[in-house]
Amino acid sequence: MASVMNGARHNGIGMTSQRTRLRMIERLREQGIKDETVLAAMLEVPRHLFVDEAMASRAYDDVSLPINFEQTLSRPYIVARMIEVLRAGKPLGRVLEIGAGSGYQAAVLAHVAQEVYTLERIKPLFERARQQLRDLKLRNVSVRYVDGSDGLPEAAPFDGIIMAAAAPVMPESLREQLAPEGRMALPVGKQEQWLYLLEREAGSFRETRLEQVKFVPLLSGKALN
Ligand code: SAH
Repeated sequence: MASVMNGARHNGIGMTSQRTRLRMIERLREQGIKDETVLAAMLEVPRHLFVDEAMASRAYDDVSLPINFEQTLSRPYIVARMIEVLRAGKPLGRVLEIGAGSGYQAAVLAHVAQEVYTLERIKPLFERARQQLRDLKLRNVSVRYVDGSDGLPEAAPFDGIIMAAAAPVMPESLREQLAPEGRMALPVGKQEQWLYLLEREAGSFRETRLEQVKFVPLLSGKALN
């Protein structure tokens, strides 16, 4: 797997320049993303560093990108939408992401939350995401190599939980890891998947179905490759 990290690439040349990133932000606005904090974070994070070099020129397009091991990095709109929904215009303390993948969404979360935990079951993806987040000096993110199906009880409760892989049905145990007033954004379904928002309110949970999405499935157990 290529993981070239040189200055030229980081500073951005050609298709990975600041201008390209600004165009992505403009497009996100047109698509209805309104949260300025989320837009600022996405302007900040160099998305092209989270994909293989061969893919870098497409990193700011409105497409999902392969990150190997049959996994994909969601298109910018979905990343922005999930974080916007999670924030609901308010600052986030501790956040959990299930499915670190490339580490991109965790990097964006690191700019809008105090503390981020992200879990990955595929070892090479875990290692690469951890290295990438270190290289970017995002010290408020903890990357763990675990099966995240049951969340991370030892670090709970979380103000926000994002599932980056689709569960066939709404996972019941996870919601107990939400803090009071906590929010979870998650794709649910098999062939047909919907993005849901789950909100914890005094003694109960409110479910809102948002929009149709396409995510890789949540799988169980750890994998070496
Ligand atoms: N948020 C990622 C994209 C994730 S793709 C990014 O920004 O790049 C979904 C990821 O979820 C994949 O890497 C997959 O390996 C991981 N995944 C699926 N089931 C999981 C589980 N039970 N525990 C942890 N990670 C899981």
